[in-house]
Amino acid sequence: MPAGRFLLSGVALVPGAELTLPDEIAHQARDVLRLGSGATLRLLDGAGSEYPAEIVRVARREVTARVGERQEGLPQPAVRLTLCLGLLKAARFEWALQKGTELGVATFQPLVTERAVAATEEFGAARRRRYERIVAEALEQCGGAWLPELAVPCALEEALDAAPANAIRVIPWEEEAAASLTATLRAEAAALRAGEAQPDIWLYIGPEGGFSAREVERARAAGALPVTLGPRILRAETAAIVAAALAMDALGALNSGPPR
Ligand code: SAM
Repeated sequence: MPAGRFLLSGVALVPGAELTLPDEIAHQARDVLRLGSGATLRLLDGAGSEYPAEIVRVARREVTARVGERQEGLPQPAVRLTLCLGLLKAARFEWALQKGTELGVATFQPLVTERAVAATEEFGAARRRRYERIVAEALEQCGGAWLPELAVPCALEEALDAAPANAIRVIPWEEEAAASLTATLRAEAAALRAGEAQPDIWLYIGPEGGFSAREVERARAAGALPVTLGPRILRAETAAIVAAALAMDALGALNSGPPR
């Protein structure tokens, strides 16, 4: 059983070659997990491949491992989910990134909306690096093999236009009382021609202050379908994860992939 899973995106993983582990991973292996020569790690490339790696040398300044043969990691979920989420206060946004990664969200699209509390300048380079690390750590922990994309913040209108033509776009809205997310997605997916590939799902979740009525109207005019997540007002991060899980399950994507 590997002692730890580590994402090495952007690093060439060549079977049989020796690799000096990046400092952060070397520190985890040597100082936190206290691993020595002979211990095995699992290295992810974030694009579906995994490599067993045996530690061959542990020194004060570096740890070297030999890369094993490439193996298929967990497949991507059967549904490609883009979670468009209003900019939230950091801790809440981080929570949504972590849980969404565990669920198999493919892309996080931060939204600049009329009532976003957190402004885009708070999405600077340092904050983005922190968010990327949270997504990477969530991927390592959950056993997934596909690193979600963290897109650059954009306006709601741009995110509505960016969805591919065959995407199903839903906007959970607390003022909507009739259309449930599950029933809406199932009806839309059933309307697609049989045999077509699973549609992309684009979810649009507002910030702490919610979407304005004007934003919801614009979304509706652009073809997004307002849906309810029940009679209670959920926090934005709660709504994001509930909607993502319901969307995945509505289209049978939570039971895909080999048993662990
Ligand atoms: N406007 C709400 C208020 O004043 O309390 C807050 C919006 S809520 C915190 C943030 C987002 O979560 C909303 O924009 C919506 O996308 C989603 N949301 C929360 N509860 C929902 C519900 N019961 N049905 C549908 N969407 C919901």
